[in-house]
Amino acid sequence: MANEPLHYDVLIVGTGNAACTAALSALEKNVTVGLLEKAPQQDRGGNSALTGHMRFVFGGIDDLRPLVKNTSEAELQGLIDRLPRRTVEDSWDEVMSVTSGQSDPDLLQVHVTESSNTMHWLAEKGQDWVPATGMQALGDNILIMNGGGYGMQQRYYAALDRGGAKIHYQTAAIELIQENGRVVGVYAITPTGVRKFTAGAVVLACGSFEASPELRARYLGSGWDTVRIRGVPYNTGEGLLMAMDIGAMSHGSWTTCHASPQDINVPEYTVPSSFAMSNGDSTDRYVYPYSIMVNTNGERFVDEGEDTRGRTYAKMGRSILAQPGGVAFQILDAKARRMNLYPSNYAGATGAKSNTLEGLAEELGINSENFVKTVTEFNAAIQPGEFNPNRHRVDGKGTAGITPRKSNYALSIEEGPFEGWAVRCGMTFCFGGLKIDAQTAQVQHVAGWGIPGLYTAGEMVGGLWVGNYASGSGMMAGATFGRIAGTNAALFAKS
Ligand SMILES: Cc1cc2nc3c(=O)[nH]c(=O)nc-3n(C[C@H](O)[C@H](O)[C@H](O)COP(=O)(O)OP(=O)(O)OC[C@H]3O[C@@H](n4cnc5c(N)ncnc54)[C@H](O)[C@@H]3O)c2cc1C
Repeated sequence: MANEPLHYDVLIVGTGNAACTAALSALEKNVTVGLLEKAPQQDRGGNSALTGHMRFVFGGIDDLRPLVKNTSEAELQGLIDRLPRRTVEDSWDEVMSVTSGQSDPDLLQVHVTESSNTMHWLAEKGQDWVPATGMQALGDNILIMNGGGYGMQQRYYAALDRGGAKIHYQTAAIELIQENGRVVGVYAITPTGVRKFTAGAVVLACGSFEASPELRARYLGSGWDTVRIRGVPYNTGEGLLMAMDIGAMSHGSWTTCHASPQDINVPEYTVPSSFAMSNGDSTDRYVYPYSIMVNTNGERFVDEGEDTRGRTYAKMGRSILAQPGGVAFQILDAKARRMNLYPSNYAGATGAKSNTLEGLAEELGINSENFVKTVTEFNAAIQPGEFNPNRHRVDGKGTAGITPRKSNYALSIEEGPFEGWAVRCGMTFCFGGLKIDAQTAQVQHVAGWGIPGLYTAGEMVGGLWVGNYASGSGMMAGATFGRIAGTNAALFAKS
């Protein structure tokens, strides 16, 4: 009968990275696993299907070898020459640095100590990576998923299929079901009505609220309601709301989020099926560390070179959103072309080119007088030193005597033709989420105990990121806590 409740030992909401890792680890415990996905099948996978790389701890070439297939020793050596290692201590310090010391230490400890194990576990489950080349080589991470996040998700679905997990599409979870305080299932809405799913344990892995204008306004504040989102339209916060409805504790920073510079013409949202067709040619506009960014008044407003790109891009969106009209322009001169500083996706970027600064200002609609003054003062403020566009280490070539300072990668803008790229804020995901026990991923109740039968992972976990983030961390943390959540949900369901 169509409306009869369906039962799984472990019921997982979502089909992104966190959900799939939870499902795969639950299957290891010989339980039945069902997944609910709001999207239709062709758009399963959430934001995870739009990603490229993961930030993990490794000690050298031996740690990389099991993760890659069909990659020569010479290629691997080339990667190690770029970034010889990333230690647990490096990773801890980095997250504490970008979050101004505000990351939850219990969560961070698990994140940094388990990332390497998680990568090798993923490889055992059929995942593989390839050297980051071309545009991806411009980031902080030296490996990318084979086929990007889209490819990774397809491998997850094949593994889940082999393991006997069942996915229900166009099935949006709307309410948790409890008996005596224990979570025993979920009500979900489908095109043909409400469906009841019962379970031994539930894992919520259905993303955050970035796709809900109403929740963005409520938690992130003015201006965020009308912002464009980089990812899927499905992550509208039900998971968080339904958990908090039964007393789950909120955690972390609900007023900050991941938001980066995007082409002014970035679409309202992106779904996995259209992303797969785009050859990964994203609207990311990440040349800014080598540029100056100005607003329509022709004024700089941020330290574009505060740190490497991977440690600043997630907070740059907020700075751009605060400018008049929420618009900014990345300005570079002819040297940038000669030095090959542009990521390849700038071929499709929205911008203008002119032999003069005044001409560029006119083309872009910037206050020309202020703009020329800004550029002149910037050029004069550049300190001696060698410009080095190294993505893993800042070059120390900064400015003095201007506000805001540019701390690194200060390259003069004096040689025409000049180019300017129009950018806006694109929001990626929210930093606020639920409080979990770091060892089990069990959701914590406001009264101070774990909610029996309820686990969460991925974007829904609050506390790791505050105000900023380091690139590739979302997928890494999602897989680590997804694995933990699936194991513990399965053990609970069997208990
Ligand atoms: C364009 C883009 C590029 C990115 N690149 C990177 C990168 O290279 N590296 C990195 O680490 N991070 C990257 N991120 C961030 C990364 O995508 C997230 O950290 C990660 O995907 C979160 O995984 P998740 O499983 O929690 O959520 P998601 O992958 O978003 O999955 C959530 C799932 O839940 C479903 N869902 C939502 N509500 C419901 C409901 N009520 N019922 C049922 N299903 C529901 C959604 O449809 C979706 O399938 C990127 C994000 C974007 C948008």
